[in-house]
Amino acid sequence: MIQDILQRAAASPRLRYARPHDADERLPYFRIQEERGGPAVRLDGAERVMLGSSNYLGLNGDPRVTQAAEEALRTYGTAMNGSRVMNGTTPLHLRLEEEVADWMGEAAALLYPSGYDANVGCISALLSPGDAVVCDAGDHASILDGVRLSGARFLPFQHNRMDRFRAMLDRAIAHGGGVLVVVDGIYSMEGDVARLPELVQLCTERRVPLLVDEAHAVGVLGPQGTGSCAALGIDGDVDLRMGTFSKALAACGGFITGPTDAIDFLRVQSRAFLFTAATAPASVAAALASLEIVRSQEGAQRAQQLLSNAGYLRRGLAELGFEAREPLRLDSGQELPTPIIAVPVGDDELTATMWRSLYDKGVYVNAALHPAVPQGRAQLRLAVMATHTRDHLDHALDAFGKLRVEFPATAAPEGE
Ligand code: PMP
Repeated sequence: MIQDILQRAAASPRLRYARPHDADERLPYFRIQEERGGPAVRLDGAERVMLGSSNYLGLNGDPRVTQAAEEALRTYGTAMNGSRVMNGTTPLHLRLEEEVADWMGEAAALLYPSGYDANVGCISALLSPGDAVVCDAGDHASILDGVRLSGARFLPFQHNRMDRFRAMLDRAIAHGGGVLVVVDGIYSMEGDVARLPELVQLCTERRVPLLVDEAHAVGVLGPQGTGSCAALGIDGDVDLRMGTFSKALAACGGFITGPTDAIDFLRVQSRAFLFTAATAPASVAAALASLEIVRSQEGAQRAQQLLSNAGYLRRGLAELGFEAREPLRLDSGQELPTPIIAVPVGDDELTATMWRSLYDKGVYVNAALHPAVPQGRAQLRLAVMATHTRDHLDHALDAFGKLRVEFPATAAPEGE
C-alpha cells in the first residue's frame, strides 16, 4: 500500500510545505503566478515586484525570443515525442549545440532537457563506485544527485574555503580511483562566485579535472555572457562547463560543453541524455534567439544593467542594516558581484514571517528554509533583473526598511 511507504516518509520536514494554502498562509511556496515572470508580476491576485526569478536579463517575453519560439512551434509542433537518439533531433537542436560550443570557445556541446539533467547525466556517466568527487558544500542539488547516482564517494568541503578544498582534494587522491572536482560558478543560495583561479591552480598541479556549473553565470558574467570562468580568465583551464537555458536565456534545457572526446562519450553513455525525450523545439528556438542577444552589444548592456541594479539593491540593504552578503573579492582585489543577494536570517519561522511581511508589501523574494539550507541558516534570497527600474528597486528597499522596524535584530552570525 502506498500509505505504508508514505508513513516512513512522514517525518520529512518538507511535508509541511506540501499544501501551503491549506496549512499556513505564511508559507512562501507554490504561490500562484498569473503572468510571465517580472520585473513585476501578478501573484495571488496582486502586483508584486519580482525579486525571486532567474529571468536575469528580462528576455522572457522579448518579442524576438517569442517569435523564434512561435516559428519553431509551427514547424515542429509542441513536442518531439522521442529521445534525441531516436526521432528527437532537429536542425535546431544541432544548431544550438554548435552555437553553444562556439560561444563558450569549446570544441563541442551536448544539450540536455534541463540543467538538472545535465549535471546528473554528466557526473553519473563519468564516474563509478571507487571514484571520488570533491564538491563545495554550496553546490547545487543536481550535482549531489549525479554523484549519488554514480556511486562515487562524495567529499564536500566548506563553502569557498580553499584550505578545506586542498585537504579534501588530497584525501580524494590518496583514496585512489578517479577524482573529479565540481563547483558552481555562482552559488545559487550564497550568491557568491567560486574561487576559481585557486581551484584551477590546485586542480592543474594535481592533474584532477574540474567541472564548473555556470547555470547562474551564463548571460550574466564574462565577455559575451560566457560565465564566471571567462570573467576570471581561466575558461581555457577548465575541463568541462555546464550551463542552463532556464535562467538568463529564458528557455528550458541544459548543456555540457568541453572537448570533443568527452562530449562524444556523454552522447552515448549519459543516461539522462539517452533515455528521455528531446527538448521541445520551441524551447530550443527560444534559447537560440536569446543566445544571439546575449552575445551582442545589447546582451552586454543588459548584463551591465543587471549587475548595477544588484549593486544598488545590495548597498541599499546594507544601509538599512541588513547583512547582505558581500560579493567575492579575490586577493588580486578583483570583485565579482552577482545578481543574487543573500540576506541571512537564521530561524525558519522568523524567515517565513519576514517573507510574508514583504509579500504583503508587494515584494516577492525567495525564502530558503531548512532543509534547503542547514538548520538555523535560513535566509531571504533576492534575484535581481536587468529590467527592474529604480522604482521597482526603491519599492523593495522601502519594504525592507519597514521590515527592519518590524524585526529589528535578525541577522544570523556566519556559521562554520
Ligand atoms: N545548477 C544550479 C547552480 C542551479 O541553481 C540550477 C537551478 N536552480 C540548476 C543547476 C538546474 O538547472 P535547471 O533549473 O535548468 O534544471
